[in-house]
Amino acid sequence: MRKKIVAGNWKLNTLLKEGMELAKAVEKLEHEKTSDALVIIAPPYTHLSKVKDMIANVKLSSQNCAAETSGAFTGEVSPAMLVSVGVEYVILGHSERRSLYHEDNELINKKVKLALAEGLKPIFCCGEVLEERESGRHFEVVKEQIEIGLRGLSADQMSQVVVAYEPVWAIGTGVVASPDQAQEMHKEIRGFLLSMFDEKVADEMSILYGGSCKPSNAKELFSNPDVDGGLIGGAALKAEDFLGIVNAY
Ligand code: PEP
Repeated sequence: MRKKIVAGNWKLNTLLKEGMELAKAVEKLEHEKTSDALVIIAPPYTHLSKVKDMIANVKLSSQNCAAETSGAFTGEVSPAMLVSVGVEYVILGHSERRSLYHEDNELINKKVKLALAEGLKPIFCCGEVLEERESGRHFEVVKEQIEIGLRGLSADQMSQVVVAYEPVWAIGTGVVASPDQAQEMHKEIRGFLLSMFDEKVADEMSILYGGSCKPSNAKELFSNPDVDGGLIGGAALKAEDFLGIVNAY
C-alpha cells in the first residue's frame, strides 16, 4: 500500500508568530482528519525549530537544503543542521528553485544524495513549463529530470523518497491540471521509475500532484489510481483549506 501524503509548502510566507499559529492550527485539525493521509508542513527555515514544538502528528519539512555538509558556504543550511532541529523531509527541485535560483538537475541530484545520506527524506519535484507541454515535450522533460535528479540512488534509498509532479504552468496560477493530465503523467513517472529501479520502487512510490490544488478540486485529482496526494502551496497557508485537501481522500 502506497503512503498517501499531503504536504504544505509555505514558501516565503508568514512571520514566526503567524507560522507558529498556523502550525498549531494544522496540528489541531490533523487530529480531526477523516483520511489516513500523512500531513507534512514546510515552513521557512527560521520557523523550523519553534514549529517543531507545535506539532506531534504533523511532520516537518524544509523547503531546501545545501548541497554541502559544512564549510565556507555563506547563507546555506545543511541537511544535518535540519535533522538537528527535528526536520524529517526536504523539498528539492521545486520549480522556483530551478527557475529563480538556477538549480539544475545535477545540483538537485547532489542535494538528494546528501539529504538521504544525512537522514532527510527528499520530496523530489519535477514538472514541465507550459511551452514544453504545448510542444509535446512534457514526458521527455520530466523523464530527464527524474533520470538525472534521482541518478545513482539504490532501491533502498528510493524507499525514502517522495516524488511530486508539479506542472509549472499550474503552480500558483489557479490553472489546475485536469485529473486525466495528472493521472497520465503520474503513470508515466511510475514507468520511468520502473525502468530505472524495480517494480517495488515504482509500485510503492508516493507520487504527489502539485499546482493550484484546492479543497474544491482535490477529490477529483486524488481519485486517480496513480495520484497519491498533493504538494500544496497557496492553500497550505490556511489550516482549514489545507486540511480540506487532506480530507478530500
Ligand atoms: C507549489 O509551489 O508547490 C504549489 C503547488 O503551489 P500552489 O498550490 O500555490 O499552486
